[in-house]
Amino acid sequence: MKYDHLLVRYGELTLKTGNRNTFVNQLKSNLKYALIPLEGYKVLANRDRMYIELEPHADVEEIIKRASKVFGVHSVSPVIKVDKDIEAIKKAAVNLAQDIDVAGNTFKVDAKRSDKGFPYETFDLQQILGKEILMNVEHLTVKVKQPDYKIMVEIRRDAAYLYSRVIEGAGGLPVGTGGKTLLMLSGGIDSPVAGIEVMKRGVTIEAIHFHSPPFTSEEAKQKVIQLTEIMAETTGEIKLHLVPFTEIQKTIHKVVPENLTMTSTRRMMLKIADRFAHQIEAKAIVNGENLGQVASQTLGSMYAINAVTTMPILRPLLTYDKDEIVIKAKAIGTFETSIQPFEDCCTIFTPKNPKTNPRLDRVEHFEEKFDFDTLINEAIEGIETLTITKHQSQNNQDFSDLL
Ligand code: ATP
Ligand code: MG
Repeated sequence: MKYDHLLVRYGELTLKTGNRNTFVNQLKSNLKYALIPLEGYKVLANRDRMYIELEPHADVEEIIKRASKVFGVHSVSPVIKVDKDIEAIKKAAVNLAQDIDVAGNTFKVDAKRSDKGFPYETFDLQQILGKEILMNVEHLTVKVKQPDYKIMVEIRRDAAYLYSRVIEGAGGLPVGTGGKTLLMLSGGIDSPVAGIEVMKRGVTIEAIHFHSPPFTSEEAKQKVIQLTEIMAETTGEIKLHLVPFTEIQKTIHKVVPENLTMTSTRRMMLKIADRFAHQIEAKAIVNGENLGQVASQTLGSMYAINAVTTMPILRPLLTYDKDEIVIKAKAIGTFETSIQPFEDCCTIFTPKNPKTNPRLDRVEHFEEKFDFDTLINEAIEGIETLTITKHQSQNNQDFSDLL
């Protein structure tokens, strides 16, 4: 195999100098998790960059694919690492150039030297390596401005690194460095995307899902579990809390006029999420709300629903168009699962004409007629918590000693 290392660049992460070690360690453990169950590599990190050492049998392309999806990874490059010996460097450069040996292709050598003790100046090194490539590889010509390919050479303190590919990473910050949030996860298209969006900024999520058996099916529950598995693929295990919501929904329909049941249902969900978020020490609630999408997501509705909590609510999809959300859902792989047609607790109880501009005092007035607090406490006590890891984990993989 040509490449012996994968170079992983941190990007934005390097800006956070104060917490650098925490960030690097978190990224390292996230990368290890993302690479399970692949074999033949070792993740090595220092303050500036990370390398994944590759054994000859490693599946480089699969490792690149998975590593580049991890938040906090800016870009990755498969590299050849050699001693800082000019003959070894020449050989590696030719080796790389052979990959692009097609008639008409142009290239240039781009050298960087952070080890100033290295006996060749950058410009000289570029000349020497360019010549060597031209002599040994048949179809290539040099082009300094906008070549088809660049052969990059970095002379660092420990060794020389050569590469020609730079694969863009997911960007963002490593999950686990930004505190905890509680994601309200339905079985729909939006909320899993909302979860991934906040994870991109480094926060961890626990997910809360409201279900109303027997009105909602076992399949609907499995669907939410599957969505959580997909979200956990590159971000680490996720706790999923399932709230029994049947009694509350039935009661709402008894005491609240039909056109306000949607508002009241959302308020009860949010009340539970709020209390539970405090219990698990989450600092914000995340949902998939999108301004104007449906009756419960007008400004008026949000105002009446939001009134039950003082916890920050993050709505990363607030201003997106639906087709933008769909593109994202397809990219993260949740779309196909989300569109499975199992009834959600809200769809089943949907009123015919929900108020798009509900009056807060009216909703409060009807809710006060019943002791919802007791039902809310019962629902919280009845929460079933599952710890979800990515799919491979079901073959009894134990992550704990790897992280
Ligand atoms: P989604 O596709 O995420 O279901 P949606 O466009 O269908 O969103 P709604 O059903 O109005 O919108 O829900 C708005 C938000 O409320 C959801 O994105 C989700 O965060 C939360 N939510 C809705 N239903 C549930 C549920 N059963 N359990 C947990 N959260 C829910
Ligand atoms: Mg929904």
